[in-house]
Amino acid sequence: MYSVKTVAVTPTEKRGRQYATPEAKEQDRIRQAKYRAAKRYDYSGASKRSQHMKRVRALMLLGGKCENCGNNDMRVLDFDHVKNNGAEHRRQGFIGHKMIKAVLQNPTDYQVLCSNCNRIKYFESKGY
Ligand SMILES: [Zn+2]
Repeated sequence: MYSVKTVAVTPTEKRGRQYATPEAKEQDRIRQAKYRAAKRYDYSGASKRSQHMKRVRALMLLGGKCENCGNNDMRVLDFDHVKNNGAEHRRQGFIGHKMIKAVLQNPTDYQVLCSNCNRIKYFESKGY
């Protein structure tokens, strides 16, 4: 067991908990780390599922397969900016869930391409 004593804080005293022994402090540190890790795991699981479903919804809204080759493997599908303004769009902060939200709001500005076709489109636009 660990023991924690909460003390009144004055400007000259160090803030925080005081521990009876260094072992108690170490045990409390481990306990807090485990608690935070468990919490982080729960949150990330829920938000990952939620974001994944939003991405799937946006992909299905735009047809659910590559416009160029017809690949429908969700793992390789990308949202492509039809007007080739993706870099500018990302600079404005539209990454991750914001990007997916933008797709759901303005579906006509985007198309679905697989990673290969998207990369080929990029290099062809650069003249390679
Ligand atoms: Zn493709």
